[in-house]
Amino acid sequence: MSTGFHWNELYAWHDTGTGSGFLSTGGLVEPEQHGESPATKRRLRNLLEVTGLLDQTVAIPGRKATREELLYVHTAEYVDRVKSESEAGGGDGGELAPFGPGGYEIALLSTGGAISAVEAVWNGDVDNTYALTRPPGHHAESDEGRGFCVFANIAVATHHALDVLGLERVAIVDWDVHHGNGTEHAFYEDPRVLTISLHQDGLYPAESGLVGDTGAGEGQGCAVNVPLPPGSGNGAYEAALERVVVPAVEAFQPQILIIASGLDASMMDPLAMMMVTSEGYRRMTDIMVELAARICDGKLVAIHEGGYSSSYVPFCGAAVIEGLLGLDESVEDPYIDAFRGMGYMDLQPHQGKVIEEAAKAAAAVPTSG
Ligand SMILES: [Zn+2]
Repeated sequence: MSTGFHWNELYAWHDTGTGSGFLSTGGLVEPEQHGESPATKRRLRNLLEVTGLLDQTVAIPGRKATREELLYVHTAEYVDRVKSESEAGGGDGGELAPFGPGGYEIALLSTGGAISAVEAVWNGDVDNTYALTRPPGHHAESDEGRGFCVFANIAVATHHALDVLGLERVAIVDWDVHHGNGTEHAFYEDPRVLTISLHQDGLYPAESGLVGDTGAGEGQGCAVNVPLPPGSGNGAYEAALERVVVPAVEAFQPQILIIASGLDASMMDPLAMMMVTSEGYRRMTDIMVELAARICDGKLVAIHEGGYSSSYVPFCGAAVIEGLLGLDESVEDPYIDAFRGMGYMDLQPHQGKVIEEAAKAAAAVPTSG
């Protein structure tokens, strides 16, 4: 198997400024490093380098997305506002989406990186790929940035796949711990795209990602949501993939499978309350790799989203990339002994109930092929 990897040093130069947690500095928030910092991404890339995993991947070069490509998803007014704020020294996409001077150009690179990753897999340059893009994209709506996301990287790349590369069906599996609202809304009435989001129930955005949100119009049945209870661990995530994601994707028969790979369902994430370990991420990746092999000739693209534990994101990310590479040997996770055998890691009955409800809703996914 050949696995691509995409990164651009400028992703680490995207400047979210000072803050604390998910807030920017102001009022009683004493300034420290903003929660969406370069550290998680840079440390993941560094771990890949020192473990030799990076040498086993194929470098995927990127490019800036064009203004026209952004307009697949975003309004011209929004794109122009981000550009002018960026030129004026920085601003905010709308809600909790800060950027510094030149942030527009870096956000264009991040979206372009997602496009390049999809192209590399679709064209057969590599079997699968991981794009470590920043800023993230899955919360960005057509007319505003939200939740650290400026432009909708995966939604724009998916439009490129459909409208330029000529694909007819794309499936997006979002395992970021937050709801993939922007991606879902971009295709809510579009029967060409299946969006599935696994997320912590009611976390962010609190108002979206309900089991009953299943698409509309021609896209009826093409959105699937699995709002997992806080405290869900490896067992719940594995069950959600096997009982909801696998059957939904098998019904839909996409030509390519995209993972919105947030790593913030991890045991140590400061912005969420889930319990997934590196072993859980490896298992989830293996399920997706096997699914892609059965459905779409192995064509699988993981595009980075959130993940805020600079200690643990690198080990979860390395586990995903090992899964994409199909390696037997794994990088030793120095934290794993502390997590193995913790209570409540297995599927709990109340989590199983939610998964069962989501599986029922996912039975409405239209059958293709
Ligand atoms: Zn997230």
